[in-house]
Amino acid sequence: MTKLEARMTNQAASQNGDARHSATIAAVTPTLCRLLGVKPPAVCQALPLELGLGLAPARLDHILVYAADAIGRVFLDSHPDLKLRLVAASDVQVELRAVFPPKTPVCFASMFTGAPPEVHGIRRYERPVLTCDTLFDALARAGKRAAIVAVKDCSMDIIFRNRAIDYYTGDYDPQVLELALELVREDRHDFIVAYNQEYDDVLHKLGPESHEAVAAARRHVETFVRLWQATEEHWAGHNRALLFAPDHGAHFDVERGRGDHGEDIPEDMDVLHFWRVSPARSEEGLGRSAPMHRRR
Ligand SMILES: [Zn+2]
Repeated sequence: MTKLEARMTNQAASQNGDARHSATIAAVTPTLCRLLGVKPPAVCQALPLELGLGLAPARLDHILVYAADAIGRVFLDSHPDLKLRLVAASDVQVELRAVFPPKTPVCFASMFTGAPPEVHGIRRYERPVLTCDTLFDALARAGKRAAIVAVKDCSMDIIFRNRAIDYYTGDYDPQVLELALELVREDRHDFIVAYNQEYDDVLHKLGPESHEAVAAARRHVETFVRLWQATEEHWAGHNRALLFAPDHGAHFDVERGRGDHGEDIPEDMDVLHFWRVSPARSEEGLGRSAPMHRRR
């Protein structure tokens, strides 16, 4: 498949009615649903993104979402090496806004329901188990096998519990990566979200541009590349997508001398999502059968 440099059109964005004409991360849920041919959750209000990939709806059967906490658009703009690495591992780059306030549970609740905070109910930093309909409920209803792999006791580990999906927890990011790689290898799920948090943890202590934070962000980018490689190897027989999907950005709080997020400023609100969509091997006309995987 040739590399597509397409950008999303502003169609969905302007329909979402925001003054700055940019869709929010809530658009992720209807986009995933359309790609998988699943009816969106009942509370979904956002419109699907136009990814410009010429994909018919319901073409994909495997999707892996890598949610790296707090990697914002402003941060990536100031680290072109990291951004280029993400570009190289993806087909489409989409500019989105977080929802307000840009706090982790508020944002992931919107990203995986398609609903704004006033509808899903998480409007500040609090972590109840959501009672509204979510992407994971919609996937289960459609007979899709879904899994969340997250760091134990983080927001992603808590707020989507009690659904008919599989939950895996790791002590920290490296264990989450190992679990996610294992799940991709086993090929038992149609939809996987893997969540990492080191960059967010470090920025709160040392600032979003500290040497340690940038090193953590680099690890997240390399994790995305490893997950991409794993899907290429083990999901080659599936029409598939991979998504790098941070929840919000962050800024340096001068008064407190450390990083934070939660304000209506570009550093906190603007994110870039990176989508990669790949056809099953057989659809590329290569006539390869499944055992052609090369191990590296
Ligand atoms: Zn967060």
